[in-house]
Amino acid sequence: MNRSLNDISVTTLKGVGSALADKLGKIGIHSIQDLLFHLPMRYQDRTRVVPIGSLQPNSDVVIQGKVLASEVVMGRRRSLLCRVSDGTGSISLRFFHFTAGQKNNLKPGAEVRCFGEPRRGATGFEIYHPEYKVIQPDAPIDVEETLTPVYPATEGLTQQRIRSLCEQALSLLANEDSLQELLPDTIRQKYRLSPLVAAVKLLHKPPPDISTELLGEGRHPAQQRLAFEELLSHNLSLQQLRKRVQSIGGFAMPPKSQLTDSMLEQLPFSLTGAQQRVMNDISQDMSAIQPMLRLVQGDVGSGKTVVAALAALQAVENGYQAAVMAPTEILAEQHQINFANWLKPLGISMVFLSGKTKGKKRQEVLEQIANGEALVVVGTHALFQDEVHFHKLGLAIIDEQHRFGVHQRMALRKKGEKNGGLPDQLIMTATPIPRTLAMSAYADLDVSVIDELPPGRTPINTVVIGDDRRSEVMQRLKTACLEGRQAYWVCTLIEESEALQCQAAEVTAELLKENLSELSIGLVHGRMKSAEKVEVMKAFKEGHLHLLVATTVIEVGVDVPNSSLMIIENPERLGLAQLHQLRGRVGRGSVASHCLLMYHAPLSRQSKERLQVMRDSSDGFVIAEKDLELRGPGEVLGTRQTGLAQFRVADLERDGDLMESVRNAARELIEQSPECAEPLINRWLGRGEDYANV
Ligand code: ADP
Ligand code: MG
Repeated sequence: MNRSLNDISVTTLKGVGSALADKLGKIGIHSIQDLLFHLPMRYQDRTRVVPIGSLQPNSDVVIQGKVLASEVVMGRRRSLLCRVSDGTGSISLRFFHFTAGQKNNLKPGAEVRCFGEPRRGATGFEIYHPEYKVIQPDAPIDVEETLTPVYPATEGLTQQRIRSLCEQALSLLANEDSLQELLPDTIRQKYRLSPLVAAVKLLHKPPPDISTELLGEGRHPAQQRLAFEELLSHNLSLQQLRKRVQSIGGFAMPPKSQLTDSMLEQLPFSLTGAQQRVMNDISQDMSAIQPMLRLVQGDVGSGKTVVAALAALQAVENGYQAAVMAPTEILAEQHQINFANWLKPLGISMVFLSGKTKGKKRQEVLEQIANGEALVVVGTHALFQDEVHFHKLGLAIIDEQHRFGVHQRMALRKKGEKNGGLPDQLIMTATPIPRTLAMSAYADLDVSVIDELPPGRTPINTVVIGDDRRSEVMQRLKTACLEGRQAYWVCTLIEESEALQCQAAEVTAELLKENLSELSIGLVHGRMKSAEKVEVMKAFKEGHLHLLVATTVIEVGVDVPNSSLMIIENPERLGLAQLHQLRGRVGRGSVASHCLLMYHAPLSRQSKERLQVMRDSSDGFVIAEKDLELRGPGEVLGTRQTGLAQFRVADLERDGDLMESVRNAARELIEQSPECAEPLINRWLGRGEDYANV
């Protein structure tokens, strides 16, 4: 049997020493198979000689002709200019760097063949620094038989080098077993996927008559075939993960309708239809012995927190603990306050744990978690740490999932394992995740959507305004606040530095206090002590402050219905999803709300477009789709979540329409040919991922 090319290192190829192997490693190429999946990003057409008279600008071509004139000209820079004609037209070759030998070669009368990109210049079409060869006038026309690939490269790795390595790799493909077809025939036929080896060969050496348009867009059947296989493998790996989790088993925690009913009675409102539906999904999941793996999506203000609290109570009713985890200190504190409001009256013991819980208090909290005295635990990622031992963790609620990586999600799953089962997992996100992204990144989760806002909300009027109108904005702010409304003033900074952002907020707060002495103004940012922050938030919530100056820490979770005005400085620095989150802090009461996006000119075209989206839409899903389109999946999911959104061949934006088929194919493959899953996962996710260990 032949060894798979996946197991053969590139160092077995001619000319690959350790230095070159390192460079290849940098762009993810280790095995010969990696090299074969390293697809060209574009192609050059060296398959035919183009008549000079029919040249079009801006695409690489081969031309051939006789040098008519050749001279060194003194423009802004000295250059060698050669006029070349082939009888159909003429063109200039221009060299800014040239040797005496070159000058001599390109003398009038010489026949040259060139490759390069014609551009319009001072003398009509010109090619700067073409590749060229002086040839015999009657030499036979020898051109390439296939398009010439241009590969993604890295420093010190030339196109010629990669091309010759790929040639070598392709020659090993002569033996078709070496790159095994892993997709069963039934799947290949049903989804019209071309055979693997043919697709790979074609993409490295496309025939001259191929549709370069499809190829350029990445929509050629050969490209789609590979993208499909890659997406399928990712999907399978997440399905497998899910299966593994479910085979471990969890705890059955059926609804007892004791604590949950008491909480519902105590609420000043009744649940929306969407909240009820999602609560039913969760309740059913929790009843089953398999661990729940559910993602709840709901726009800001849709009322996810209540649903989370009800789920926590269902766990507690069954004698288990529930943990609630938030991505930031301030959001965790908000949850603590909200949960305490609902749960304390029912006599449920709660503790709080974050990185800032220190010393004796920390010991106490850890002990209560370990001995089961604490029934509900709220905190930050501090809850993931090794020193945290739960007595009987039944349910883990993770808020704002997109900020935690898939790996952290797994770390938490492990937490409950010691008690002979995995805890149920409920993941809440206010970032509407575009469908295609959700299908690929969260294929291991069931999804429920709270697609209805509680009644009585008024739409937010969003205005985009330049910061040269700051004083006008301050006047408007003063008037509104003196009429009894409350407002946020949000400061942003380009840099991720929390320290600088906090400083900016401090400066702004001072400035506003000077200019608006009639108003009471508070400040909250991430570097303040917990107790201070809670104090300020409480004062704002109780209406003792007109204005809250804040960094983006208020992005999530803060809930003050009376606040109806928000000013965001330099909104162009934030992602759309983040802006939408921020804006969701207003528009929670019955008065009309306003959001002023105060940008700093000049704006790039993309920034303008993004702010316009904010002005025109209040639908989180529309905004998220637009965000995906403008910024790409890596950014939308958050930079911290690497891995999942990164594909070798597939591109979620381009191939989003494959996802539906991919999901179906994954299901069919698991049913019909389960043995195919493992090799596929190994092929596409083999290296560096620890899915297998979970
Ligand atoms: P989310 O976490 O989804 O952004 P919250 O859970 O913070 O939203 O809810 C936003 C606000 O709406 C809170 O003040 C909450 O008490 C209130 N709320 C939640 N559900 C309802 C409902 N069914 N009817 C009226 N108000 C609700
Ligand atoms: Mg919330």
